Amino acid sequence: MTVLKGLKKRIRAHFSMRGFTCDACGGEVFDYPAHRLCAKCEESMRPNDGRVCGKCGRKTLAEGVCLSCKSRMPRFDQGFSPFVYRGESASFVNRIKTGNPTLAYYFAEKMAYCLIKRFEEMENFKTEVGDPLMIIPIPLTKERLRARGYNQAELLADHVCTVLQEKGYCAEVCNSVLQKTRDTAQQKHMDYVSRIENVAGAYHVHERKVCRGRTIVLVDDVMTTGATGSECASRLLSAGAERVFFLVGAALPEQK
Ligand SMILES: [Zn+2]
Ligand SMILES: [Zn+2]
Repeated sequence: MTVLKGLKKRIRAHFSMRGFTCDACGGEVFDYPAHRLCAKCEESMRPNDGRVCGKCGRKTLAEGVCLSCKSRMPRFDQGFSPFVYRGESASFVNRIKTGNPTLAYYFAEKMAYCLIKRFEEMENFKTEVGDPLMIIPIPLTKERLRARGYNQAELLADHVCTVLQEKGYCAEVCNSVLQKTRDTAQQKHMDYVSRIENVAGAYHVHERKVCRGRTIVLVDDVMTTGATGSECASRLLSAGAERVFFLVGAALPEQK
């Protein structure tokens, strides 16, 4: 197990040092890793910088809470996403799990900055050695993890944690707290209600005690309806977590 852990660490270190080429297209990037994407790829990204839903964080068509949250309020306290799940932003974030895990570093950096912005607005918010932020990646089932070889959410969570630590926050990744106990059907073409039913009971809090009174950041690559984040948050809150944020690489915008 230790050997495997060491190997995993070395692979990650290797990916994070890869340069001086764009993580997405392989083109030259002179100031890598200050910039992980070349100018052309960076321009094609769609930042989630306009009007966003105050609850789930997706881009909205009008002021206030999005239609999806209005019809069913997610259980997490607040969601954040640096990018809109459209065009290249969607294609790049998908590539983290389909063969280009290096892209996780680019997304994770932007994700961490989203969160830091929120922390800076929160009065009296602090993290300490005795009470660090818990960063929890949305888990895969053991079978799925074995088939893919890695969990994209775990890669994102690891690097989000590193950036937070570099910025002076006390944070730790907790991979074993939340577990996925059964496989859920592909959610791509499901409506929100079907998704809720699909994920209900699929996640289990393995270590309930450690959640008590904690601020938890759930991490995933993509948010579509928010059903997965909501289900996991609900489990963690019932285990005693004080608040749960849901942080993703890209979020589907509100639809007409
Ligand atoms: Zn590029
Ligand atoms: Zn919303």
